[in-house]
Amino acid sequence: KRTDPKELSNISILGYGSCGHVYKMEHIPSKTELAVKIMHRTASDEENKRIIMDLDVIIKSYDFPFIVRCIGYFINSTDVWICMELMASCFDKLLKLIQQPIPELVLGKLTFATVTALNYLKEAHGIIHRDVKPSNILIDEYGAIKLCDFGISGVLIESMAKSRNAGCAAYMSPERIEPLDPTRPDYDIRADIWSLGITLIELATNAYPYSNCRSDFDVMSRIVTEDSPKLPAHLTFSANFRSFVDMCLIKKYKERPKYGELMLQPFFVQSRDQPFDVAGWYRDVTSAANDKQRR
Ligand code: ADP
Ligand code: MG
Repeated sequence: KRTDPKELSNISILGYGSCGHVYKMEHIPSKTELAVKIMHRTASDEENKRIIMDLDVIIKSYDFPFIVRCIGYFINSTDVWICMELMASCFDKLLKLIQQPIPELVLGKLTFATVTALNYLKEAHGIIHRDVKPSNILIDEYGAIKLCDFGISGVLIESMAKSRNAGCAAYMSPERIEPLDPTRPDYDIRADIWSLGITLIELATNAYPYSNCRSDFDVMSRIVTEDSPKLPAHLTFSANFRSFVDMCLIKKYKERPKYGELMLQPFFVQSRDQPFDVAGWYRDVTSAANDKQRR
């Protein structure tokens, strides 16, 4: 659906990203609050037509419980506005707010949601996400965990004004940094699985595994030269969680499992089938953190 920006009024800023800003806005006619991502771009009419076609497809098809819903968009020669359902927070902000590790049971639900969403994108739409990281995994007050920011950025890559797009260095897999054959870079969905592994370690320990790097270059050279990060032995995690993370972070991507295999792992199956009150947990940790900030 095309959106008329005149029907939107800005409420506040939700965050600044590498290729745009996200605002909380009200859709005045329906009195609903939305998240609106505004990206600057430069494009020809020809490209515009193609982008509009692609956005139409994306917006129609991604009605899936573990994917942040796109409600509409607006496009002109300099900007693209993407209207999304408003979520309460993302795991990057949440970690900064609560300043403590996210419990394994919550990470189980996050893993179930993220892997299910990534598998759906691949199977139904042939899409590789390319930017899996804590800030692209969102949570709402009802405890639903959903993935965002794929496809759309893929569609827009060529017409992005300052295209730093390729994804975030910190979560990039070794094979994307250093392809086996640089003349024919080939990587697949397993690049997203690596990014999920790094995300899980960061959230489970409240520490990004390649810390103290001075630059993206520094991070990327450590990713390709060092052994894969692991969940630290001195912390308490289940053996199933440890082995799931280890599988995600197999350095040689041809040996790394794909979604089908991951979805058979005990950690995945158990997280899918065990009920856990994510909403209750979210309410408790955020209200405790907010109380602490007020004091
Ligand atoms: P990045 O993901 O690189 O941090 P983005 O521009 O994609 O940058 O997003 C910026 C911030 O906006 C994110 O950290 C996230 O917390 C917030 N955000 C994005 N989409 C939504 C949404 N649908 N609901 C609530 N907050 C959102
Ligand atoms: Mg994002």
